[in-house]
Amino acid sequence: PGRRTWEAIRGDFPVLAQSIHGHPLAYLDSAASSQMPQQVIDRLVWYHSTQHSNVHRGVHTLSQKATQAFEDVREKVRELINAPSLHECIFTSGTTESINLVAHSFGRAFLQEGDRVLLSALEHHANIVPWQRICQEVGAHIDVIPINDRGELLLETLDELLTERTKIVGVGHVSNALGTINPIAEIIERAHAREIPVLIDGAQAIAHLKVDVQALDADFYVFSGHKMCGPTGIGVLWGKERWLNQMEPYQSGGDMILSVSWEGTTYNGLPHKFEAGTPSIAAGVGLGAAINYLQGIGFERIAAREDELLQRASARLSEIPGVRLIGTAEHKASVLSFDIEGVHPHDIGSILDSEGVAVRAGHHCAQPVMTRLGIPATARASFAFYNDDEDIDRLVAAIYSVKEIFGV
Ligand code: PMP
Repeated sequence: PGRRTWEAIRGDFPVLAQSIHGHPLAYLDSAASSQMPQQVIDRLVWYHSTQHSNVHRGVHTLSQKATQAFEDVREKVRELINAPSLHECIFTSGTTESINLVAHSFGRAFLQEGDRVLLSALEHHANIVPWQRICQEVGAHIDVIPINDRGELLLETLDELLTERTKIVGVGHVSNALGTINPIAEIIERAHAREIPVLIDGAQAIAHLKVDVQALDADFYVFSGHKMCGPTGIGVLWGKERWLNQMEPYQSGGDMILSVSWEGTTYNGLPHKFEAGTPSIAAGVGLGAAINYLQGIGFERIAAREDELLQRASARLSEIPGVRLIGTAEHKASVLSFDIEGVHPHDIGSILDSEGVAVRAGHHCAQPVMTRLGIPATARASFAFYNDDEDIDRLVAAIYSVKEIFGV
């Protein structure tokens, strides 16, 4: 059998077949949450219909089935990112929890008064605020790798910013606000030259690029299921055992212990040490189906398709008078931020929605990026492999409607 066409693949996504305000849906907000194919939905139904139970504690058959299904996903995750070992792959509720866990537990183990944490100017609030809190707690400071006007990190500043007091670097693989693909391999190499570990926020990369944590030599890599065609409520923290073993648990309770008495408690080993309580089992199983689905298409094919959509949409939008593309990095993923002279991005978003075109408008949880670029917000169209040329046509037509309504 030949490869499935993009049209057939689009047909896997039932949500795309609906009308919004009387128009067929053009879903251009996959950077916020991607959609789930029928294969993932079916897997969720199957789990809920035949396997639902609690994991890791049951002697009964159903619990063993749920445990098997959930643990099989851990192996899929390991394979997806080429992690060296299974117990380094920890399930969380998403990127936000993964980063909070590292900031809290790594921070308490390794950050002291006067130490420094190095982040980038492109970070999502999820990779800023947890660090601000731990830094405040211990009296440490945050440094920031600056960007140029195109939204690219200025790596020439790195040698100065990697100080003797820098204990960890946190950088996004791909910017959710501008789409910039950051040179994380180089950042990791240069941080490691000074023995500083690096956390990569892979929320925007995992569904679009092939990730190999061993080739990158990252120390932590985190992502969310709902941005890779899986359900909400499940995410991953991968970390090198060397660091994870030196970190205290984040949350505590059932499953993360070996034994508990009134005199004290001993903790379970990895990964359970960081997985207190009942996890999002169904969502985890759904994530496994999503990984299978994406691997079935192939990450190289997905990246090429999305790049094609991005290039086409960028060219079309840059021809529209008054439309300005924001974030013009040389290496970009399929995120297209823009504004229209004389129109607030929220009004762009509302008018586009009235024509069935779903985009994001706002600061994209990256307010420091907006401040740096001197704008309050952008409208953001983000593309996934299931989008098509018609979605781009619809976006362009809706932008002309905005211009007409505002007379710009
Ligand atoms: N980092 C980046 C780069 C993101 O795009 C997002 C989601 N917008 C997050 C972190 C947070 O992810 P979640 O809301 O799934 O925890």
